[in-house]
Amino acid sequence: MNCGARTRAGNPCQKPPLQGKARCRLHGGLSLVGKDHPNYKHGHCTLEYRKQTADGNAYVKYLEYLLIQLGMIEPKRRKRNTMF
Ligand SMILES: [Zn+2]
Repeated sequence: MNCGARTRAGNPCQKPPLQGKARCRLHGGLSLVGKDHPNYKHGHCTLEYRKQTADGNAYVKYLEYLLIQLGMIEPKRRKRNTMF
């Protein structure tokens, strides 16, 4: 395994990444990520959180769809029907 970042010459970097990181010292391996980063505030913009909420929203939409099919609630009029 090597760093693999694109160098200025256009080739993948051949250096080994830092321990526990994906990139070498020169290509972001020294950067602090997530909670360790000084600008980290609440994590609501992290990829992890976005993935979780996206799944949650899909689940809510599915439940709504089921309730509409069962006639328990009225369908909402939406400008754009995103899923169902
Ligand atoms: Zn590198």
